[in-house]
Amino acid sequence: MARYTGSVCRLCRREGTKLFLKGDRCFTEKCAIDRRAYPPGQHGQGRVRFSDYGVQLREKQKVKRMYGLLEKQFRSTFDQASRMKGRSGENLLMLLERRLDNVVYRLGYTTSRAEARQLVKHGHFLVNGRKALSPGMKVKPGWTIEVRDRSQKVARIAGALETSEGRAVPQWLEIEKDQMKGTVKAMPQREDVTLPIDEQLIVELYSR
Ligand code: SF4
Repeated sequence: MARYTGSVCRLCRREGTKLFLKGDRCFTEKCAIDRRAYPPGQHGQGRVRFSDYGVQLREKQKVKRMYGLLEKQFRSTFDQASRMKGRSGENLLMLLERRLDNVVYRLGYTTSRAEARQLVKHGHFLVNGRKALSPGMKVKPGWTIEVRDRSQKVARIAGALETSEGRAVPQWLEIEKDQMKGTVKAMPQREDVTLPIDEQLIVELYSR
């Protein structure tokens, strides 16, 4: 599958906000957006004025990059959200939150969603006791997400769990660290997404 291979810090600088794409580095003074808080490129320090379309586009790009999706996947998630009852924007965020790679990251098994996606694909996790290889799988209440026995000594997972204190597990999830076992307690709610996102702008963009 195609994937973005460029500098991820550049994406944060483009969106003008921390997207937390680089694990622990995002919480250190090495964070690029703390050091160079202007868009990348030759004209990055020039004055930028966005049209309505530009504002909507940037919001969509921000959320898409935050969750590490490409346009096609993001659009199909939005289409799925539009077919659900309720507000499309909120549905979109909830679908993104329920992705297995996001849940693995939110439980503290990894320090970034990109790392979570890679480790899921490498078969390090069990969902309801069965090996799960699809990062896009949508979890449901009652499901368990565990680290496979043979993967419990993988340094990246053990290390991430150890340093995960600073990253609070959202209320809809629960983690038993000593057993490396997570449980989905409930469906995520809008307030569980604490990053600054105006999902209505994405709805407006796709409704054009
Ligand atoms: Fe973004 Fe993290 Fe890079 Fe900072 S260190 S610019 S938050 S990816």
